[in-house]
Amino acid sequence: MKHLLLLSAFIVSLVRAEDRPLRVVTLNTVLTEIAREVGGGQISVNGLVKPDVDPHSFDPSASDIRALAEADVVLASGLSLESYLDRIASNTGKARVLKIGDALPSVLSTGGSEPDPHWWNSIDNVLFASELVRAEYARLRPSSATEFARNAQAYRRRLLALKTEIAREIDTLPPEKRHLVTSHDAFGYFARDYGFTVHAISGLSTDSEPDARHLATLIDLIRRKHIKAVFAESSVNSKLIANLVRETGVRLGGTLYADGLGVAGGDAATYEAMVRLNARTIVESLR
Ligand SMILES: [Zn+2]
Repeated sequence: MKHLLLLSAFIVSLVRAEDRPLRVVTLNTVLTEIAREVGGGQISVNGLVKPDVDPHSFDPSASDIRALAEADVVLASGLSLESYLDRIASNTGKARVLKIGDALPSVLSTGGSEPDPHWWNSIDNVLFASELVRAEYARLRPSSATEFARNAQAYRRRLLALKTEIAREIDTLPPEKRHLVTSHDAFGYFARDYGFTVHAISGLSTDSEPDARHLATLIDLIRRKHIKAVFAESSVNSKLIANLVRETGVRLGGTLYADGLGVAGGDAATYEAMVRLNARTIVESLR
């Protein structure tokens, strides 16, 4: 009898673990979207890095670290973007930290060494990321694997349609006009996909300060290549871009979303909206 009671208690606890949604914590707004799209109703997502927040300067609070510790899985950008992860590793408990960027088949680097963490600016990488997330969910919750696969497939179809649409849009811009002058070096993957050259004021992180010589080179380049517009970024102070505009008379082409999604209800609240907005802003300003 006693054994029977223990056994039934064990079965009840198993059912409970299966019943509750998987706890997913994300450190990147695009990953927050992927986590929700693939997970559907079977998971709860806690996005610690909020829309319109600069992920380079994000630092987890005590309650963020608690959320990380209680997660079933943590989705991070990887490629050293979340430099605090090593520091708080002993606090993150049993959760597996999936560093998406580290798993990509092809990582860009500048200067030959520093990896470019802005992988979400290539649609192919987001397709890859959603497959990694699906596989991880299926591993953690095999009973919902079919549902995760269905959700991932629906999301994949939308991303493939987006890819076709963006390629068609970029096609209308002559190759010699594909120069992207931005605040920081965040569009390397976009540039690789669509044949652009990036000329950033700052480096791969938003906190690196350019020197006067680099700025002079940029000003010279804008004049020499007859570049029509330069771009500000949503989460970066636009002072340096404004200086460049004043110095060269070049047009400010608009604001790009380089480091992740914008706030809910805004014009870059979803990945599809963000990619469309960036592509349209770039093509219309440089044409
Ligand atoms: Zn960035």
